Amino acid sequence: MAEETIFSKIIRQEIPTELLYQDDLVTAFRDIAPQAKTHILIIPNKLIPTVNDIEESDELIMGRLFTVAKQLAKEEGIAEDGFRLIMNCNQHGGQEVYHIHMHLVGGQPLGKMLALK
Ligand code: AMP
Repeated sequence: MAEETIFSKIIRQEIPTELLYQDDLVTAFRDIAPQAKTHILIIPNKLIPTVNDIEESDELIMGRLFTVAKQLAKEEGIAEDGFRLIMNCNQHGGQEVYHIHMHLVGGQPLGKMLALK
């Protein structure tokens, strides 16, 4: 059994967050430490620790992350100018919270895709 993270508490609304969207499959809220003018996290309600743990039966959930990202980008007014969707995996990917999440970032030019240092 994977260990719960703070994101499970957010899904259950046990800790305060700026909740933007929730349905039976996914939850979206503002990142607590935004890296751009718009920075939203979209997560599955099911605890999937990393991209490596996604199963074929999760395909509906994974698709929902994208349709909600698209809808939120429109609502935030950043769809036309553009935005970036990011999902980090494990140590080399820079993953910090082991409950997969899609970062929706935008609201300004984002520069090159990778900043390796
Ligand atoms: P990652 O490095 O891809 O695992 O990203 C984890 C993200 O979760 C970071 O951008 C954090 O700022 C964000 N984060 C961690 N705790 C919270 C929280 N309580 N509410 C909102 N965002 C959070």
